[in-house]
Amino acid sequence: MNLYPNLSQFSSKEFALNEDPVAAQIEFRRVTKMYGPIAAVKDVSLTVRQGEFVTILGPSGSGKTTALMLLAGFAAPSSGDILISGRSVAAVPSYRRDQGIVFQSYALFPHLTVRRNLEFPLEMRGMRAADRVKRVDQMLERVHLAEFGDRMPAQLSGGQQQRVALARALIADPPILLLDEPLGALDRNLREQMQGEIKRLHREFGKTTICVTHDQEEALTLSDRIVVMRAGQIEQTDTPEALYDRPVTRFVANFLGEANILEVHDFQIETGAAQPSGTVAMVRPERVCIAGSGAPKRADAEQRQSVTGKVEDMIYAGPLRRYQVRVGGSMLIVREHVASGRQTFKAGEEVCLDWLRSDVRFVER
Ligand code: ADP
Ligand code: MG
Repeated sequence: MNLYPNLSQFSSKEFALNEDPVAAQIEFRRVTKMYGPIAAVKDVSLTVRQGEFVTILGPSGSGKTTALMLLAGFAAPSSGDILISGRSVAAVPSYRRDQGIVFQSYALFPHLTVRRNLEFPLEMRGMRAADRVKRVDQMLERVHLAEFGDRMPAQLSGGQQQRVALARALIADPPILLLDEPLGALDRNLREQMQGEIKRLHREFGKTTICVTHDQEEALTLSDRIVVMRAGQIEQTDTPEALYDRPVTRFVANFLGEANILEVHDFQIETGAAQPSGTVAMVRPERVCIAGSGAPKRADAEQRQSVTGKVEDMIYAGPLRRYQVRVGGSMLIVREHVASGRQTFKAGEEVCLDWLRSDVRFVER
């Protein structure tokens, strides 16, 4: 069985990297993976569209890597099925699944030059030496490493090594790209730079991509959609905007940024809609405004809820001020952009907090 008919022609053709990329749809159907009594992945159903960039986001141990390993064929589901382009891959060994994979640790061959690292997947596919050289040259250009082909991995920076790993995953033009914590080993600035690089490569190559990370910022930046996992199960799947703005559960609300949970015993919560049972009210810190206790009412005051509290702490976070304000028995967080003319409040000051009633969300406990 050949899962990718387009790819079989591919090896005999000229390797034009700007050819229409082949992408594949991926489907998890009620997939469970047991390790002894532990369900590392539990009843996961998910469809990733052709060319889509989906990130699996969750804390350590939530089953992200296991989900990726099942797709890559390094582990088999205990129940359920995985389909690629509509066909079950249960009987397809990992080396026949034609997926480019990048791990956090790069996994470059340390004793081979960059060029030889990139040639390896092509050699495995039986490509002629002259074609390989041509293709490697093209790929080195594409990832801006043209001058580095003859270096050993140890002679490259972390970011450069990761670019080689990405290039190696892409070079045989697989329909699927899998990334497991690809930027986890890089420091913050480099991570941001590489996020841009991964986005660019996704735009240019159009591969169906599944990326695994525990870093919410990375997930928000890179993804068409994010799958939030918790204890082996999918908690919510949505676009970054929807996930941040309309989290379904308290776990999702807290995992993607900070959330103020409004406790009913502190004050009556005013909202337009009735609160569904089993939920708590939540408002994001940047939706809360802070003002001096004697400040005049806002123009849209009747659409807002306002409460009084006392500042417990204020920290500068670059362009933001982050306040902790005690309101009744709760501590509310306020994030405010630093702007000229804005008053700064110190610990101990009485303040007034307010937010639009329409900015309140109900999340499951
Ligand atoms: P994540 O990538 O989200 O950190 P993993 O998928 O690695 O999580 O692990 C999910 C759960 O499955 C954890 O409890 C982990 O200990 C367990 N697990 C993963 N792989 C194995 C294995 N090969 N044998 C036994 N338990 C495993
Ligand atoms: Mg992992």
